[in-house]
Amino acid sequence: MKIVRTVRELREQVRNARAAGSPHVGLVPTMGALHEGHLSLVRAAQQAGGLVVLSIFVNPKQFTEASDLDAYPRQEEADAALAAGAGVDVIFAPDATELYPGGFATNVHVGGPLTETLEAAGRGPEHFDGVATVVSKLLIAVGPDAAYFGQKDAQQLLVVRRMVADLGLPVEIVACPTVRDDDGLAKSSRNVRLSAEDRARALAIPRALEAAETALALGETGVAALHARAAAVLTAAGIEPEYLAFVDTAALAPLDTIEAPALLAIAARVGAVRLIDNTLLTPPTADGFGDPPALHHPRPEEH
Ligand code: AMP
Repeated sequence: MKIVRTVRELREQVRNARAAGSPHVGLVPTMGALHEGHLSLVRAAQQAGGLVVLSIFVNPKQFTEASDLDAYPRQEEADAALAAGAGVDVIFAPDATELYPGGFATNVHVGGPLTETLEAAGRGPEHFDGVATVVSKLLIAVGPDAAYFGQKDAQQLLVVRRMVADLGLPVEIVACPTVRDDDGLAKSSRNVRLSAEDRARALAIPRALEAAETALALGETGVAALHARAAAVLTAAGIEPEYLAFVDTAALAPLDTIEAPALLAIAARVGAVRLIDNTLLTPPTADGFGDPPALHHPRPEEH
């Protein structure tokens, strides 16, 4: 495994791999402090065969709180060992001036509803400008066939998909499922900053997602009732969510009822740490526990 710090060296690695007949180049963008969630993206990239590039860059442009940027865990040596073990071929770990040299003045802004809600409300609209700018720089630098993103950051995934479609970038954006600890907490680089007590309280977040999923599976499709179920779980743990939102997956617009696959997304501060999690809700079908569709759409012989 090679570690490179400049775009020039990175391009050389990719060019060499392609010249040697590599059938596929996969990019896994991260901010480091690697965990199983990141490594699951690496494995997805590996399955496509060819070269796997992992970028590690704590992108200052996407942090809207200086304290969050300062406190963000950095552990390059441990990351390199984990990446090598998982089969990464090239780590791209630039410093900030490599990606944002003096005079840097370009901003990639994805407009519309995707960047006006949820994380944008909590972290400011510049957050997704920072994400879109760095992801486009990474995609242009590597020129991968596919780039791998976690569903854990569902809004980010949708923003990146929008940007890639709008700019016509020739890359497939692959979504990978959220990896969790055995007790359900979504893996996150920020989890190391939770005290033992706060980590236990944070479990209310996946349990709140589950409470809504269970109620939906039992036939409750009204968002007010589902919201109450999930909110009660958070309240019992003393967690006040920044948002607890039931939204569609096209524009992240709020929903009143769940009639098609929808996103339930939560952001909450637990102690000093801001955590996000989500689940894709699927309305009950005839195969589930909910009302069979026949009740709503009588079969012809029932008319
Ligand atoms: P980050 O280093 O937090 O910016 O994350 C880099 C990539 O890893 C993003 O695409 C995240 O969505 C993804 N990721 C982070 N945590 C998880 C997780 N628990 N499961 C799956 N993917 C994750």
